[in-house]
Amino acid sequence: MSALKVKKMREILLATGNPKKAREMQEILQAAEPSGTIRWRLLSEFPDAPEAVEDGTTFAANAEMKAHHYARWSGLWTIADDSGLEVDALGGEPGVFSARFAGEPCNDAANNALLIQRLAGVPPERRTARFRCVVVLSDGRQVLASAEGVVQGRIIDTPLGTNGFGYDPHFWVEEAGMTTAQMSPERKHAISHRGQALRRLREQLARLLEEQA
Ligand code: IMP
Repeated sequence: MSALKVKKMREILLATGNPKKAREMQEILQAAEPSGTIRWRLLSEFPDAPEAVEDGTTFAANAEMKAHHYARWSGLWTIADDSGLEVDALGGEPGVFSARFAGEPCNDAANNALLIQRLAGVPPERRTARFRCVVVLSDGRQVLASAEGVVQGRIIDTPLGTNGFGYDPHFWVEEAGMTTAQMSPERKHAISHRGQALRRLREQLARLLEEQA
């Protein structure tokens, strides 16, 4: 007798309060998982979710804190990311403080203005920088998978492009000849820190789901 195998649908929460980041995460993961065996849930569906404390000193520590927090609260497997910009001429700043570089509440325009002000007088060749992203999948008890991605660039004074978010208009990618804000979402995801990290995590997730099937 042939057993008909029914694929189990798994719900996974994408735990970021930043709607633009949530959209990018969903786009990247959906492109990597077209088979529809995962139902992606967004934090915006859970307006009562208490905010996670994010006081780690590394992207990895913050991503893990957020993933555990929302997985415990929701009872769902949860993916959280922590990401930011590291500028060499600023000793790696703003780093884990990227979202709040110019203070609370998080304001992209103020962050970008402060970044350009802090880099005044620094020549183009010394404006090297990178976006870094760490993603963690938690079941509320342990880290099931984690991955990191990095994209290298250079900070330019004049903002170019209107796509993306955060520091994108000032982040020039040499090989592409444009900023990440001038890229289509697909092009940005193909090279971005978040795209790399999530595709790596997605491979680990596929193995986990296969083990469970
Ligand atoms: P998080 O929500 O604590 O991970 O904050 C990430 C911050 O880093 C964002 O608010 C942005 O300022 C910056 N950032 C992270 N990823 C990107 C990106 O893809 N483009 C532009 N800025 C980014």
